Amino acid sequence: MTSGLRQKLIDHAQAEGFAKVGITRPDVLPTLGRRLADFVDKGRHGDMGWMAERMHWRGNPAALWPEARSVIMLAEVYSPEHDPREVLRHPDKAAISVYAQNRDYHDIVKKRLKRVGRWLIDEAGRDTEIKVFVDTAPVMEKPLAAAAGLGWQGKHTNLLARDLGNWFFLGAIFTTLELEPDAPAADHCGACTACLDACPTRAFPAPYQLDARRCISYLTIEHKGPIDEALRPALGNRIYGCDDCLAACPWNKFAAVASEVRYRARDDLAAPDLAALAALDDAGFREKFSGSPIKRIGRARFLRNVAYAIGNSGDSRLKEAVRPLAADPDPVLAEAARWALARLG
Ligand code: SF4
Ligand code: SF4
Repeated sequence: MTSGLRQKLIDHAQAEGFAKVGITRPDVLPTLGRRLADFVDKGRHGDMGWMAERMHWRGNPAALWPEARSVIMLAEVYSPEHDPREVLRHPDKAAISVYAQNRDYHDIVKKRLKRVGRWLIDEAGRDTEIKVFVDTAPVMEKPLAAAAGLGWQGKHTNLLARDLGNWFFLGAIFTTLELEPDAPAADHCGACTACLDACPTRAFPAPYQLDARRCISYLTIEHKGPIDEALRPALGNRIYGCDDCLAACPWNKFAAVASEVRYRARDDLAAPDLAALAALDDAGFREKFSGSPIKRIGRARFLRNVAYAIGNSGDSRLKEAVRPLAADPDPVLAEAARWALARLG
């Protein structure tokens, strides 16, 4: 591919709204499979069984689509307008992870990736093939993005960049086109440990390693059963995900605010009342979270998290809000509500 077309691709992707574009090869990560196997062997994926099941693809992007010659990695910024930790000081309110306070990013990013992909086919020739991925296929976006020079995987294991901070989504376009790869970015964490120190559940066994089983994002979103009682107090009022390690990173001082308005916090999701959330019935839950990533976990798991947050609130006025949930037909939710009532005394 000529460097002219390469630059046009980058310009076009940026005009589509992507903040940064990098290119790598599908076979660039020879040790990825081993690192992933180690993570799964140690059980750190918790009950995200899908991670172990499709490990042969996840650990080797070249095997996912053998005809692919290049991987274009793209970053889409969703930086919050305010420090997302402010809501943690209001225990009667719910803290929802920044990325989930409005529309589901998968749909938005995927449409954008497809537009860039179609443009590439038009430019490079009809025999060019592409496949786009956003966090739903067995693709390890973070190491690929690091290899493509978008940034580096920090001690909190997420990708960050000196010019972007760490509030961005990643999308991938695999293509049969041979593109000149970028050089990987250097690590600029240095002696900083801000993200490790900020973690409420000490989910990092070591820098650059995450034990998902202790991570609030995993526990509140992916984990289906009751959350270990020893970890519940550390959830605080976080009912869907956790941003503490991301928010602590000093490189965010260079983060641009998201230009996509559909990522800005919905008024009713920036700091919703726990009592109002506890009153949601099934239809109310589906209506409120239509088009939101939160819908995926369903009412029972969502209210399980709300019940833990009420239990952690220290606010006995919330007892009446959680009491009806103790009789819910979902046993995990009912137990969470009973735990909250007992904790509120
Ligand atoms: S998301 Fe929260 S719980 Fe998970 S590692 Fe980061 S700070 Fe810790
Ligand atoms: S907070 Fe510090 S250690 Fe953690 S990712 Fe950012 S720069 Fe690296």
